[in-house]
Amino acid sequence: MEINEKPIIEEINLITEPKRKYKKPVRKKRKKAIYHIDELKNIGIRRKFEEYARALSRKIAIYTYAVIGLTAFTFMLVTMCSVGYEGFINEKSIGVAQTKETIEAIKVDLNNEIVSLSGTEEGKIENITYKFKIVSEENYTKDEDIRKNMVEHSSAMLNGCSIYVDGTKMATLRTESEAKVALERIKNQYFLEGMECSSEILNKIELKSEATTYAAAVSIEDAMGLMNDVTVSTRGYTVEAGDSLWGIARRNETTVNNIISLNPDYDGVIHVGDILQVPAPKPVVDVKTIIRDAVIEESVENEMIRIDDPGLYIGQTKIVDYGQKGWRKVTADITRINGIEDVSLRVLKKEEMLSQPVPGKIHIGTTPAPRGIGSGTFIWPVKGYRITSRYGPRWGSVHTGLDMALATGSPVRSCDEGRVTFAGWNRGGYGNLIIVDHGNGYQTYYAHLSKIYVKKGEIVAQGETIGAVGNTGFSTGPHLHLEIRKNGVTQNPERYL
Ligand SMILES: [Zn+2]
Repeated sequence: MEINEKPIIEEINLITEPKRKYKKPVRKKRKKAIYHIDELKNIGIRRKFEEYARALSRKIAIYTYAVIGLTAFTFMLVTMCSVGYEGFINEKSIGVAQTKETIEAIKVDLNNEIVSLSGTEEGKIENITYKFKIVSEENYTKDEDIRKNMVEHSSAMLNGCSIYVDGTKMATLRTESEAKVALERIKNQYFLEGMECSSEILNKIELKSEATTYAAAVSIEDAMGLMNDVTVSTRGYTVEAGDSLWGIARRNETTVNNIISLNPDYDGVIHVGDILQVPAPKPVVDVKTIIRDAVIEESVENEMIRIDDPGLYIGQTKIVDYGQKGWRKVTADITRINGIEDVSLRVLKKEEMLSQPVPGKIHIGTTPAPRGIGSGTFIWPVKGYRITSRYGPRWGSVHTGLDMALATGSPVRSCDEGRVTFAGWNRGGYGNLIIVDHGNGYQTYYAHLSKIYVKKGEIVAQGETIGAVGNTGFSTGPHLHLEIRKNGVTQNPERYL
């Protein structure tokens, strides 16, 4: 028996041999197919072989699939990805290129430029260090970006040229000739095409040779931008009839508070003819341009004929006919300051009317106004306040007035002439309240007062003290709640003051 058994076992081992070749099965190791003689006696050897062959072919299939999958994956990886080098200057990345040579070529180009701009071999771009990288091809950095980053992270130096305006450094350009080009363009920017123009910069300009890093040197365009940058100075504005502070602020693109801060002498009342300082934007560099024999078409203001009207009160006016502007064509030497003509410097050479202006008509009141009728313009009722709540939506409802916080007892003045229609306690939350009817459709409300100095029916002048600031009614601190109503409808007071 024993002699017979041996070859059988060997045969089985022979078949199991290939299994080792594929080795490291991922899954749990199968039981080795070693059968005891007794078993072999009982189970048919052929059946065993068959069973074993099936298991083996399954294994081969799994390995084959794995190899195919891995090959496909590798193929994909190779197709999508490439190798490259990431360059660093001063430990900062300047980008990734396929070869180091690509980056080095940009550096050589840039160094040539620096040397030619600077006239010396000093101050070139420092050494670049590299790291090997696997990247997809579309992630290579563009050459122009590598160049930009190289400039930015390098401390390469140039002998630049700085422009000083009135003693203040404006910009450093790469060369003196670039600085001169920038200044020439600034000087000539208000020329009119096809006309004889001359110009000068009104500021004191100095050019100084200064060392700069390549990165800090600005382009001609950027230098021009810095010189044309708007600074805010002020100019005088002459108050006209019908002007309000709010309107003046809006037309000059500023705020009422800003105008008040620019005019420390302002006492709460504006009069026709007053000169207020308002913000006036202007470029850093002022340019005067003279244009010879400029041909311009322009409008001609029409005259307004003044007609006395006893139907209007003194101080009231009413335009009944606006008339029409005329047009003319003029030939003149004109002077422009920062692009805007200074008409007072015009030298007229020829004038041709294209259409005559048509006069308009304005009615001027001649009847003395009865007392108790407002002028239609409003002054601030208090001085030295701080606005704590504006007109408009507040806490889910509408705040019908303007809250101005200041000390209890501070005088409250009537915003305009009018007649007192209420002076006393209001149970609705206003506390001590004064209502003045201005007889022209407007009423003003002064609420939360600590003291009331006027009686119902009394006539008050504009600016007359009528009460004192307090904290009465629904109020959480001393303040004046001011309302301006037009025909009973609340208005935003800041539009009238
Ligand atoms: Zn209020």
